[in-house]
Amino acid sequence: MSVPSKRRTKQQKRERASHFALRKQTFAACPKCKKPFLSHRVCAFCGYYKGQDILLIDTKAERKKKKQKKKEDRAKSK
Ligand SMILES: [Zn+2]
Repeated sequence: MSVPSKRRTKQQKRERASHFALRKQTFAACPKCKKPFLSHRVCAFCGYYKGQDILLIDTKAERKKKKQKKKEDRAKSK
């Protein structure tokens, strides 16, 4: 196994580590639902990107409707 030929000083280590810090993410407001989303990405709340609905995301009311329908179907089959 190879061994480093010279010792890295504390300063060299710290200088290298100066680039390791994570940056805070910046959010923009979604033009459709006005919720914060990461730019250049699809909105996680409504699935909107560049004037199109990319993802089909159910709203809370739609999920409730689906759940109720499932319940009714189950009751019918019994
Ligand atoms: Zn949105």
